[in-house]
Amino acid sequence: MKITDIRATTVMMPLEAPLRHSNGAHWGKFVRTIIEVETDEGIIGYGEMGGGGESAEAAFAGLKSYLLGHDPFQLEELRFKICNPTASLYNNRTQLHAAVEFACLDIMGKKLGLPVHQLLGGKVRDEVKFASYLFYRLPNEQTGEGEVRTIEQLVAHCTELKEKHGFHVHKLKGGVFHPDYELACYKALAEAFPEDRLRYDPNAALSVEDSIRFGQAIEGLNNDYFEDPTWGLNGMRRVRSMVRIPTATNTVVVNFEQLAANILDPAIDVVLLDTTFWGGIRQCIKAAGVCETFQLGIAVHSSGELGIQLATMLHLGAVVPNLAFAADAHYHHLQDDILVGGKMKYVNGAISVPEGPGLGIEVNLDKVREYAEMYKEFGGYPYDRDPSRPDWFPLVPNDRWADHRR
Ligand SMILES: [Mg+2]
Repeated sequence: MKITDIRATTVMMPLEAPLRHSNGAHWGKFVRTIIEVETDEGIIGYGEMGGGGESAEAAFAGLKSYLLGHDPFQLEELRFKICNPTASLYNNRTQLHAAVEFACLDIMGKKLGLPVHQLLGGKVRDEVKFASYLFYRLPNEQTGEGEVRTIEQLVAHCTELKEKHGFHVHKLKGGVFHPDYELACYKALAEAFPEDRLRYDPNAALSVEDSIRFGQAIEGLNNDYFEDPTWGLNGMRRVRSMVRIPTATNTVVVNFEQLAANILDPAIDVVLLDTTFWGGIRQCIKAAGVCETFQLGIAVHSSGELGIQLATMLHLGAVVPNLAFAADAHYHHLQDDILVGGKMKYVNGAISVPEGPGLGIEVNLDKVREYAEMYKEFGGYPYDRDPSRPDWFPLVPNDRWADHRR
């Protein structure tokens, strides 16, 4: 089989409300790029990448000379063609490669009539559990609704998500307000949901000392792990030496070099595997194998997703035996999806692993066109700007917190 074409389309997907994080916000929408890889047998595979616009569409178009004529079953060759480590010093294509790998796996599964998990060693679970991903939110620009700022709003938001989707694990995305206020929020969640598990992730905004203070204050709670409280392997190592909660990262162990460094001099206990950041589902499975060998924990990370990316996370979660934590997803903050049948459903906090051929999802091209038009009309947004504080930017460690009183 040969690849005959690749097309990239950037779409904008509205969110319920803008999601705040330590560097700014997702401004009430996600921008994602959908790719279609076409073959000489008429099979089309789908992939997805974060961000977009002309630069992303041009970057995928720029891969044509590598991809046209390539057999989609040759995944290791694909990796070296596109992201050979030496050439990657000049052209960082890890995330582009991930999207193409998703599409090739989709093609392989469709050709063989098998779900992707069958190509990856076979599933060891039928569903993947997810955490509620709680963000502080700005009000929706149109409706004025959806704000999450006060402790009451946060607990009410979590209650609603738990009722609607059945989550038993709650992740608080922090790094927005002063750590003392976020600590009070976290404790309020622990008190409101005593049976459930918790995790806190301020996206590396805290100083080492504030991380230790925060971590020691929550040691007795039902924590999964302490995710990227501070920046860097050395900072995380210092936190780990003073706090009796497993550390986790999606920031400083995102490739095999860093994974090796972390094993030689441990800073991180739980490695959060992102099918995009690591360069594909197969890279994540390899990393999961290393973690299994050294008995590090793993979980499935979310860098934002529509249904195609979510399917990659589900197939990954299905085949890694050492997945002992709920996965993360931004998915429940989306207003819609580009899949036939709309958004996938959470049942009791979990999503079923797709069983159809390939990624097991059907892309609704009318929806792709609709949201591509929306992207053309409204454009992108800067991830590292806050629409409510136009002149603001954070330091690392940060001390320029947003005001939780307004
Ligand atoms: Mg994180």
